[in-house]
Amino acid sequence: MTSTHSNNDTLFTRAQLTTPGGVNSPVRAFRSVGGTPRFITHAAGPYFWDADDKRYIDYIGSWGPAIVGHAHPEVVKAVQDAAARGLSFGAPTEGEIEMAEEICRLVPSIEQVRLVSSGTEATMSALRLARGATGRDKIVKFEGCYHGHADSLLVKAGSGLLTFGNPTSAGVPEDFVKHTMVLDYNNTAQLEQAFKDMGDQIACVIVEPVAGNMNLVKSTPEFLHTMRRLCTQYGTILIFDEVMSGFRVALGGAQSVYGITPDLTALGKVIGGGLPLAAFGGRAELMQKMAPLGAVYQAGTLSGNPVAVAAGMSTLKLIQAPGFYDALAAQTRKLVNGLSAAAGEAGIPFCADAIGGMFGLYFSPDIPTGYTQMMACNRTRFNAFFHAMLEQGVYFAPAAFEAGFVSAQHDDTVIDATIAAARTVFASLH
Ligand SMILES: *Cc1c(COP(=O)(O)O)cnc(C)c1O
Repeated sequence: MTSTHSNNDTLFTRAQLTTPGGVNSPVRAFRSVGGTPRFITHAAGPYFWDADDKRYIDYIGSWGPAIVGHAHPEVVKAVQDAAARGLSFGAPTEGEIEMAEEICRLVPSIEQVRLVSSGTEATMSALRLARGATGRDKIVKFEGCYHGHADSLLVKAGSGLLTFGNPTSAGVPEDFVKHTMVLDYNNTAQLEQAFKDMGDQIACVIVEPVAGNMNLVKSTPEFLHTMRRLCTQYGTILIFDEVMSGFRVALGGAQSVYGITPDLTALGKVIGGGLPLAAFGGRAELMQKMAPLGAVYQAGTLSGNPVAVAAGMSTLKLIQAPGFYDALAAQTRKLVNGLSAAAGEAGIPFCADAIGGMFGLYFSPDIPTGYTQMMACNRTRFNAFFHAMLEQGVYFAPAAFEAGFVSAQHDDTVIDATIAAARTVFASLH
């Protein structure tokens, strides 16, 4: 794989002079897999191209947002039209109302919603609201779930942090996380015990109902239904962090798949269609505790930005096309089945899982059910697989702890090409 001079190397060297690690978000730096990150010049449909003009089939889709494929003409047109009318006003627009109405219609647990600019802001604000509404400080999260980088949530928090073997972050005071209780994902008995011990002090439970930041790990229905029951019983607010799973595993998010109504939901990624837009919402009575009506403060100069709203709205329209999610899920399933079969032929211990347009690849004999099992996957083999696939023009997430994403533009040709490449690569992995 050592090669001639690459423009990616030149750019990476240059980037590191003015940007820490050469990237604006850690996982992009390839630290986990080694090698030089690819600098992307442009993208279309299921593909993007790097600085050497090499084309890749893209399975990260901007970490989820690119569900209709890159640079979809309708989304691009909506963005161009909105931009021509002005980039930002700092005053309300009708587009924000339409966006809120659409979100409330698609996710019925959300009666009122506030738009923000990143998933981190959405979860951070939901957390503050939960604490403000209950007057309690303690929160419960689960090991391996990532909820953005707000201080009190940066505890045993998945992917980028798992990759660095750095379960928490420097710069977060002990005092800020002493109220954060971290439990095991999918461990129902432990959750019940925690509530028995101190349920009346817990402001909220925050969970990725389908975890996508320790690779893909699905909740068991029992785990989530018990969580819902305990939260109701103890007056604790249940926050579903669907920043990744929302509009990704199904049109109504993971909550529609499991049939659970959370009190608050955080959304991001897909709802911005590739622009910075996120949201949190839930029961109206709770949301009305937000400023300017209530005592919980939250604000944003660019919140509900008209260009981002235009990208989000056109994306939300496209994903409501009849059969959209059936087709997306079928292609994703076809991908993981094909990869599993190819690994099987080569005798490599490997398995894969999928839900909607999201998938997980595991170099282990069984599908992991939580953080500990995920850590037992063969990382060395993943890294070899990653680089060999990259060489073949297939771009998977550059870390063993990330989920993968399929778009509506990943047609049979694209999936078949991926599986053919994997067959070659698995055969070389011994
Ligand atoms: C990506 C993600 C976030 C953070 O969103 P940003 O827009 O990166 O701040 C929060 N929660 C989950 C589940 C995510 O996947």
